[in-house]
Amino acid sequence: MSPPAHHRDGRFQNNDGDFEAKSLAELIRWRWNAARRGLPPRPQAPIPTQAADLGFLHANAGPAQQPAVTWVGHATVLAQLGGLNLLTDPIFSERASPLSFAGPRREQPPGVALQDLPTIDAVLVSHNHYDHLDLPSCRALADQPGGGPLFLVPLGLQKWFHQRGLRRVVELDWWQSHTLAGVEIFLVPAQHWSARGLNDRMKTLWGGFAVFAPDCQLFFAGDTGYSRDFTRIRERFADRQADGGFDVALLPIGAYEPRWFMKEQHVNVEEALKIHADLAAKRSLGVHWGTFELTDEALDEPPRQLALQRAALGLAEDAFFMLPIGGTRRLPRRR
Ligand code: ZN
Ligand code: ZN
Repeated sequence: MSPPAHHRDGRFQNNDGDFEAKSLAELIRWRWNAARRGLPPRPQAPIPTQAADLGFLHANAGPAQQPAVTWVGHATVLAQLGGLNLLTDPIFSERASPLSFAGPRREQPPGVALQDLPTIDAVLVSHNHYDHLDLPSCRALADQPGGGPLFLVPLGLQKWFHQRGLRRVVELDWWQSHTLAGVEIFLVPAQHWSARGLNDRMKTLWGGFAVFAPDCQLFFAGDTGYSRDFTRIRERFADRQADGGFDVALLPIGAYEPRWFMKEQHVNVEEALKIHADLAAKRSLGVHWGTFELTDEALDEPPRQLALQRAALGLAEDAFFMLPIGGTRRLPRRR
């Protein structure tokens, strides 16, 4: 049997077109232009934050659990569903960087502090970029009282965890799943790339997650450019979603400027709205903004764009919503 098309000579590739991660020369050109023009602009208003409802988050367990999503910041979301506490791409550190003294610094503290989290059952890691896979956060979670969570990671990343003494890890290829306490969790394609060092481009896989619990179906995109992957995902899971698509999709809406550099790897708000439509998600939450200044748009530009474009499409606020950092949205149960 020949290997899947996205496996290429010990590396991985995206589904649509031959994806080339940007070169060092292009990176320098982007950074030079941004510095010359003074980008990104300062935000016009503070990023909304609120104190998390810790009483609710800790009591929201067991058979009476109500599906809920809480935005911790960036792509970190506490998802409570199927009786489980899931955490996406946990980063609680001061910087999204291999270095403690350099690299993008947090603009606001996590909406829920590490020590205030309820016991996490599983962590979904979308890929190995520093703003999504943060070693100190993973270590702290592995040391949580009562035992560490299960880390679900894309192909090639299990070794990275094992080498760092984190043993409870399952790695998945696209469309493979792992079932935890009756909740089925799939890794699904996204258009992105991977690297942590100088010589590991595309050597570990990246992706999103589709989570199927009886009371809630959740999608988490990780980082992605716009592609046909989201139509494929809807088609693949159509039989589970006869009553409509995912109950909630966690979609990135930030880190998209300049387009010539970012378009293939990070969607802008317009494309995030297309993903929402491609998935036929019942509602989406905009994440991956407001936390680290990574790109040329102002930190508070994505929600302004979302409000404008949502209105232009005639979409209700609840169809593609935002939360303050620390905020929780409770969701209706599927059954
Ligand atoms: Zn990334
Ligand atoms: Zn990212």
